[in-house]
Amino acid sequence: MSDAPALPSLQDIASCVAGYDPNALSVEHAQQFIERFVPRVGAVEQLALRAALGRVLARDLVSHIDVPANDNSAMDGYALRSTDLKSGAPTVLRVAGTGLAGQQYEGKVAAGECVRIMTGAVMQGDLDTVVPQEFVVLMPAAQDDSRPPPRSTGEGHITVPAGIVRPGDNRRLAGEDLARGETALAAGRVLRPADIGLAASLGRAELPVHRRLRVAFFSTGDELRSIGEPLDAGCVYDSNRYTIHAMLTRLGVELLDLGVVRDDPGALEAAFRSACENADAVITSGGVSVGEADHTKQVMARLGEVAFWRIAMRPGRPMAFGRIASNGHTAVLFGLPGNPVAVMVTFYAFVRGALLAMAGAAPIALPLLRARAALAIRKKPGRTEYQRGIVTRAADGDWDVALTGAQGSGILRSMSVANGLVVLRHEQGSVAAGEHVDVLPFDGLL
Ligand code: AMP
Ligand code: MG
Repeated sequence: MSDAPALPSLQDIASCVAGYDPNALSVEHAQQFIERFVPRVGAVEQLALRAALGRVLARDLVSHIDVPANDNSAMDGYALRSTDLKSGAPTVLRVAGTGLAGQQYEGKVAAGECVRIMTGAVMQGDLDTVVPQEFVVLMPAAQDDSRPPPRSTGEGHITVPAGIVRPGDNRRLAGEDLARGETALAAGRVLRPADIGLAASLGRAELPVHRRLRVAFFSTGDELRSIGEPLDAGCVYDSNRYTIHAMLTRLGVELLDLGVVRDDPGALEAAFRSACENADAVITSGGVSVGEADHTKQVMARLGEVAFWRIAMRPGRPMAFGRIASNGHTAVLFGLPGNPVAVMVTFYAFVRGALLAMAGAAPIALPLLRARAALAIRKKPGRTEYQRGIVTRAADGDWDVALTGAQGSGILRSMSVANGLVVLRHEQGSVAAGEHVDVLPFDGLL
């Protein structure tokens, strides 16, 4: 896809990232580098409210009304003047009438009187407090004279026990949810269900959102077979394209699946060009290892500005990152390693945040759990490790985490069995049993 001019070069960014060394890059440095390098999509479209779920809000949503518009009752009960309440003794009040939800009792309310009120009914005049109906004793008018009990009009008297309400109780103030002129939702917000409801409470039928990011992806490697093909000796089914497809689907981007591309310079170049001309970002897996004999790296380097990194992490050490160009279109390139676990870990560590930033989303740190390691974990300082863990709630309320067993970067089952990644920091050494570690839970991870 076409881009804005004057994009920074890899060299520009490298000079801004302190301690940049492509052959020994920490995860944090790689994240900073990527965050500075990737462009943001500018285009905005108006979407009907319901269609905007999961999309990125392009402009601040400012409230043009007070929500709620009037002071109103938070309970079914009786609205009264707190000045009428006796201190230390029950108060008897006459019920002047009833206010229904969305309405206001229009009659007069004299001193010593109250109004039967429903949740959401407008609080009239100087009535400032609501006593919930279950706290009062109602003495219907029928007890005072010979008329039948007029419960529907709420007439009669109530006794409010001493000390049961304080002034202002159970009254929702006008504008307490949102005041006129207040920013309800800031630009860059990935819209969640509550945000859609909030926009509806302002009467908004549409929202301005960034256009969806388009992401192309393909797998490289002559040993890969697509589903439906026979599995020849020494071959594996291409699983990366399916995990990448699934992770991108969660992110809500538009997808362009270019299949498996064989290790042939012409086929690779055609795939990279097609990806670049039709997408904002391109994700590949495989072919970026140091000793890699195939053509992937050469073609990447030829089509643009691409750095080949060795990241101090496990799994996921080799990764290509940069920008490729074809026929006036440019796209950000993420060349992920081939091992299935490395693909997922590098996606969560680098690609997810970068794609959200490109889509215009404000950065949101992923929430981490602190969990107690069930057993000791061996770890070398000087690299970030992402081990697959199973987190459970312990009897004492703490979180426990156990590793899933063999942690090889080709063992995709370890990701499937796990419910989170144990993140062992760059400087961190081995972990003793019972020590707390950070865990990135998969639930809720886009
Ligand atoms: P590479 O990074 O190309 O050296 O690949 C490392 C390992 O990952 C090799 O064992 C590959 O067979 C495997 N691999 C590469 N791409 C895929 C893929 N798309 N699906 C499953 N395994 C893959
Ligand atoms: Mg390979």
